[in-house]
Amino acid sequence: MTQFIPSPYLCPICQDSLNLTENKKSYCCAKNHHFDVAKEGYLNLLPAQHKKSKEPGDSKAMMQARRNFLEADFYQPLAQAITNLVDQHYPDNATKRHILDMGCGEGYYSRQLSALSTHASQLDFHCLDIAKNAIMAAAKKHKEACYIVASTTNRKFVTLLTRP
Ligand SMILES: [Zn+2]
Repeated sequence: MTQFIPSPYLCPICQDSLNLTENKKSYCCAKNHHFDVAKEGYLNLLPAQHKKSKEPGDSKAMMQARRNFLEADFYQPLAQAITNLVDQHYPDNATKRHILDMGCGEGYYSRQLSALSTHASQLDFHCLDIAKNAIMAAAKKHKEACYIVASTTNRKFVTLLTRP
């Protein structure tokens, strides 16, 4: 019998809870909607019928241009300021905290937070973007985080994630 591991995600089709399969290769809900984890490690929770275009979000060229700009560290002071806020407000008795990075793009800010935070090992990253190429690029660089292709406008999808 297959064992399932509860996850903080909701099925984008029926909004039921998604569980990770024992082999950690896919997620499924009680109504048997399946979502496989890609070989790059990301999860695609944007069903074809929810896409408004063939390639939603930034194109690959736009994503690469953004990555080149961000990796030149022009916005590093902002990433440091975000990290300082997270560290200042990190509860003394907390074990794990979820970080929800909505519209994460190619993952620069979550990677920075993961590298700079004094609580990095206790941060559980859930990073969403509608651009599949950006999520794929992000997942390759930040293996500890969960990168998910999803629409951030679907409130039902994020409700579970925003619970304490
Ligand atoms: Zn479902």
